[in-house]
Amino acid sequence: AMAEPKVSDLLIIGAGPGGYAAAFLAADKGMSVTLVDAGERPGGTCLHVGCIPSKALLHAAKLITDSREAHTWGLKFTPPQIDLLALRKQEFAIIDTLGKNLAELCQRRKVEYLARRASFVDSRTVQLDDGSRRSFRYCILATGSLPARPAALALDHPRVMDSTAALRLDEVPGSLLVVGGGYIGLELGYVYAALGSQVTVVELTDGLLPGVDRDLVRPLQARLATLCHRIWLNTKVVRMEPAGAQVRVTLEGAEVSEQTPTYDRVLVAVGRRPNTEGLGLERTRVQLDARGFVCVDERRRTTEEHIYAIGDVAGEPMLAHKATFEAKVAVRAIAGEAAVFDAQAIPAVVFTDPEIAWCGLTETEAKRQQREVRVSRFPWAASGRALTLGRPEGLTKLIVDPDTERLLGVGIVGPGAGEMIAEGVLAIEMGATATDLALTIHPHPTLSETVAEAAEALHGTATHLYRPRR
Ligand code: FAD
Ligand code: NAD
Repeated sequence: AMAEPKVSDLLIIGAGPGGYAAAFLAADKGMSVTLVDAGERPGGTCLHVGCIPSKALLHAAKLITDSREAHTWGLKFTPPQIDLLALRKQEFAIIDTLGKNLAELCQRRKVEYLARRASFVDSRTVQLDDGSRRSFRYCILATGSLPARPAALALDHPRVMDSTAALRLDEVPGSLLVVGGGYIGLELGYVYAALGSQVTVVELTDGLLPGVDRDLVRPLQARLATLCHRIWLNTKVVRMEPAGAQVRVTLEGAEVSEQTPTYDRVLVAVGRRPNTEGLGLERTRVQLDARGFVCVDERRRTTEEHIYAIGDVAGEPMLAHKATFEAKVAVRAIAGEAAVFDAQAIPAVVFTDPEIAWCGLTETEAKRQQREVRVSRFPWAASGRALTLGRPEGLTKLIVDPDTERLLGVGIVGPGAGEMIAEGVLAIEMGATATDLALTIHPHPTLSETVAEAAEALHGTATHLYRPRR
């Protein structure tokens, strides 16, 4: 007879920023924790094929584009010689270090890490891909998401890449088609364009980064227009086929000047879908919603009482920091604490140059809800710090409740926006008003002053903006 499977207080499937954060907090609270992930080391999509490698490459890209612009400062650099092998080595060394650190944090906390694929046998037991079984009192699903691949983009060809393949950086193709003008398309499109590929971006909707306020997208789009070969909006890829060593695509769209262009490589980045396949969820009472996300309540509990779900698999936005936050909510709920997901604002950052960052209510969303708001903008052309960086095109905007002046949303475009947005998130969480921001001394000369000046501008007088008295 089979031995009874080992029982953990908590078994977590998926060791990304959701799963490993949950494992560590649960272990710190004294639970016995088993963390299962198909990968050799913890870290998930974010560490191994997502946030971290993309940011490493974006740093290299920014070094290139900054050095090109250095002539304004009387500094002339010759074009960089790109040693792809060394660049890749640097990228993977970072992943390696962080992966080792996570493995060590597992050991120190006595979290049992199993580099295995798991699927449910029943709602109390999982089977691992070595045939062994594990039982648990509680389980957290943190299996993340996978790239979406609609039928028209499904060509199986070594030169058609998803983000994982693009991050491997096999080569710098002469020409690259990026399908999808979202986070991945623009971040990785930026990387390849900076490295020297002739990049074309095609986007289905009428604008890059759909849903993001247009005044924030404009400065990025302007810069991308100089870096990329073409940006075609309202454009659809209807077909892809091999054409010698290249890929021929059939495009449909008003802006398209070539119907069947060929490219050395294609990057498909048209969104991600929740990863629930092969998990055996049908052998539990866990339910999925119409879009395939696991249904969860405000504690992140699924429709099966002792199974929770967090991160990309549990709904949008599919962002690492949202996964980590949910991990802590779920573990506290499991520990019997009064925890709910009640974040007032979730920041989002596009790490191109310029960066775009926003949190809370956007102007676009306020319009959609027909909600009355006041919007205050501070153009970076009036910021001393922005000019010392050669970046007057940036913008900081606040979205404020017209009656209470409570801060509802913040949007920033410009270098450093991703770091600066944290102040906006804190302000919203603290229920700050525009006056609170204006009465907070910000260091000079920094880009952070634009937040305080945008708040001042709401009251009609900002030091570095002239507004005639009304
Ligand atoms: P994941 O990190 O996806 O981890 C899930 C893990 O579960 C994986 O390791 C998977 O192998 C494992 N797994 C799945 N099924 C099983 C199974 N049956 N058995 C065992 N293991 C299983 N977000 C940001 O916030 N900032 C960024 O800058 C950013 N950049 C990104 C760049 C790229 C190119 C991509 C693709 C994504 C990026 N994201 C970014 C999104 C971010 O990676 C995800 O939101 C985040 O990783 C979600 O975390 P998670 O814990 O839900 O799942
Ligand atoms: P996305 O949703 O950000 O962008 C997809 C884009 O593709 C959209 O603009 C969409 O309109 C467009 N599109 C859809 N179908 C298309 C088609 N057939 N042809 C042309 N365009 C089409 O998705 P993504 O860029 O694949 O990224 C996936 C997710 O990963 C993001 O939504 C985000 O949650 C996460 N991510 C985050 C970061 C970050 O935080 N900096 C970076 C990368 C990825």
